[in-house]
Amino acid sequence: MEDVKENPADELLELVRSLKAQIQFDIDAGKTPAYVCVKAEPAAGDKSAAEKLRVQSRTASRKILTLGDVKKELGDCQRCSLGQVRTNIVFGEGNPKAEIVFVGEAPGGDEDIQGRPFVGRAGQLLTKIIAAMGLKRTDVYICNILKCRPPGNRNPGPEEIAACEPILIMMYP
Ligand code: SF4
Repeated sequence: MEDVKENPADELLELVRSLKAQIQFDIDAGKTPAYVCVKAEPAAGDKSAAEKLRVQSRTASRKILTLGDVKKELGDCQRCSLGQVRTNIVFGEGNPKAEIVFVGEAPGGDEDIQGRPFVGRAGQLLTKIIAAMGLKRTDVYICNILKCRPPGNRNPGPEEIAACEPILIMMYP
């Protein structure tokens, strides 16, 4: 009989442990960094965010920017309408040289207020997941595709993703 876990958190932790083993395998094979999409709900018929990342990564400029350079470039960003409704830009945080990058979809209410990624309930779960991987938040890098909160935590619109995703690509070309 198939082993079905009753607790989704346990199942998630098991998946993360498998993922950790895979990432370590990739690192040992010289493939870095690993992108981990925490939540991705691509529109039907659209390319997945991960696929877009791969395509744009291959075609992006190879100029190496520091995170400070990218933050400066971002400035008081108004590249999409979310710039008018956010409280704070949620840039990202962690180890700038991290081998593992967690990329969420967009900041929520807690993140918007604090200007930090994954600090609400989902963030607490992510912190536990990272700990289960034998790591600390400061060992990895945590950010989102969007750097501003969509009102009411609605799903990001395609135009918002199109405006903000290049900043993510700048961070990890
Ligand atoms: S979501 Fe991204 S592109 Fe839109 S205003 Fe915020 S930082 Fe700029």
